[in-house]
Amino acid sequence: MKMPTKFTALCCAALLSAAALLPATATSHPAPYRDSITVEKIDFNHPDFIRGMDVSSVISLEQSGVVYRNEAGEAQDLFKILADNGVNYIRVRVWLDPYDADGNGYGGGNNDLDKAKQIGKRAADNGMKLLVDFHYSDFWADPAKQKAPKAWANFTLAQKEKALYDYTLNSLNEIKSAGAAVGMVQIGNETTAGIAGEFNNTNRAKLFKAGAAAVRAFDKDVLVALHFTNPEKTATMKWIADYLHQNSVDYDVFATSYYPCWHGSLENLAEVLNYAADKYGKYAMVAETSYPNTLEDTDGHGNTISYWNNNTGDNLLWDFTVQGQADEVRAVMNAVNNVHNGKGIGMFYWEGAWVSVGDISGKSGSAYTAQWTANSKLWEQFGSGWASSYSVEYDPDDAGKYYGGSAVDNQVFFDANGKALPSLHVFRDVANGTVTHDVLSGDVNGDGRVTISDVTEVQRLLADYIVLSPEQSLAADVNRDGSVTVDDATAVQQYLAEYGNPYHVNTLS
Ligand code: CA
Repeated sequence: MKMPTKFTALCCAALLSAAALLPATATSHPAPYRDSITVEKIDFNHPDFIRGMDVSSVISLEQSGVVYRNEAGEAQDLFKILADNGVNYIRVRVWLDPYDADGNGYGGGNNDLDKAKQIGKRAADNGMKLLVDFHYSDFWADPAKQKAPKAWANFTLAQKEKALYDYTLNSLNEIKSAGAAVGMVQIGNETTAGIAGEFNNTNRAKLFKAGAAAVRAFDKDVLVALHFTNPEKTATMKWIADYLHQNSVDYDVFATSYYPCWHGSLENLAEVLNYAADKYGKYAMVAETSYPNTLEDTDGHGNTISYWNNNTGDNLLWDFTVQGQADEVRAVMNAVNNVHNGKGIGMFYWEGAWVSVGDISGKSGSAYTAQWTANSKLWEQFGSGWASSYSVEYDPDDAGKYYGGSAVDNQVFFDANGKALPSLHVFRDVANGTVTHDVLSGDVNGDGRVTISDVTEVQRLLADYIVLSPEQSLAADVNRDGSVTVDDATAVQQYLAEYGNPYHVNTLS
C-alpha cells in the first residue's frame, strides 16, 4: 500500500487501527488514497507459461456461504475473477473416498471425484485448463502421510497397480466428460517418501508407471507430472530424479512444492529444477507455493504462518503485505522461467482462495466465541476447514486431533469478506510489467482531481446512465466497503465542502 506523502509520517498500522476505531456510521473522506501493486515484467519463454492456482476447497466454501467478489466489490464466480486477473490454469486435488461410513466428510474441501468434475467444468468455462492432482489416498497425502485408500488397504502391490491404473483412467474420462479441459495429471502428491501406502522405491516406481500408463491411454497430449517436496534437500531431490530414470518411469514434468518458510532459497529451488531439466530433459514446475499478505488470522483457526509461528527465517525475502505476496509470486515464476533450455513451464499457487467462512477480526469474549462456534459448524458440515472431526477414523493422530478451519486464510488473494486483493493482479501484470490500479480515491472520471464532476459521475452510475470501469469503480468506492452507493457520493461532497474544490492530485506528491 502506497501512502500519500502527507500521511507518511504515520505508520500503516496506526492508520489501520485509527480507521478501525471509527464508528460504523462515519463517512470516510475520499482523498488522498492510493492503492497500487507494482509488478516487474517477466519475459516468459512460453506464451502459455502456467500461472496457475489450486482452489480445491472452493465448493465447500461456497456451500458454507462464502461469496467471492471482484476488486470493485461485485459478487462474481471465483473462476471468472481468477481468469480476469490472469490465472490460466486450475489445479484440483482428488481423494478416493474422503467420507466416513455415515457419509460425513473428512474436510479439507471434501475433494472427491465429483468436486473435481465441477471445478474442472467451471475452469474450462472460463478458458482455463485443469491439472488433476491425484493423491491416491482418502485424505491429505504429503511428506509425512501416504496412506492407501480404505478400499485398497489390503491389496497386494499388483492389485494396487491395477486399481491405480483403472481409477486414474476412469476418473479422467469422467472429468473430461463433465466438460473439463485436462492438460496435466499428477501421479501422487508430494510423493517424496511414498505413494498409496508403498514406501519401497521399486514399488513406488511401479505405481508411478501404472498412473502414467493410464494418462497416456487417456490422452497422449496430456502431461504426466510427478510431484515431490523439500527442494532445500537438494541431494535427496537429485537422487529422486536419478531413481526415476533408473527405474524407467515415464513422465514429463518434475514438480516440487516451494514454500519459502520451509523450503530454502530460490537458488536451491533452481538447482533442483535445473538438474531434472539438464540431466533428464524433463519439464520443471512448482506445483505449490504460497505466501502471507498479513500475519492476522480471520477465521479463528491458527495459520501456518502467524505472529507466533514461522514468521522469521533467512529466506523470507518479502514483506508480509499485499505487495510482498505479489513479489513472492513473481519471484517464483521468474525462477521457474529461468530453468535452463526453456524447460520451466510454470507454477501453481496453493489454495489462493481458502478464505474465512466467518470473520473473527476484532471480536473478543462472547462475540468471538459465538463467531468461532458458527465457523466450526460450517467446517464440520461442509468440510470447509482443513479437517473435520470425522477424519479421526482415517487420520487419528493428526487431523483427528487438530481439526478445524483454514490455516492459510492470510495467504489468499481475498479479504475476509471474499473481495479480491490487489495482489491478485500479479498473475496478469507479470506479463506486461505495468503498475495498475493507481487510483486516486474519489477521482471517478480519472482527470487527476476530485471535483463535483466526480459526484455527478457517481450519481449517473446510481441512475444507471453509465457503467464504470474497474479502475473507476475502485476510485468511486470511497468508503472502501466494496460497493458504490450514495454514501460514496456524499463522502465526496463532504470532502469538497471541507477541503475545497478542486483537490488536485499534484498536492499528493
Ligand atoms: Ca485461520
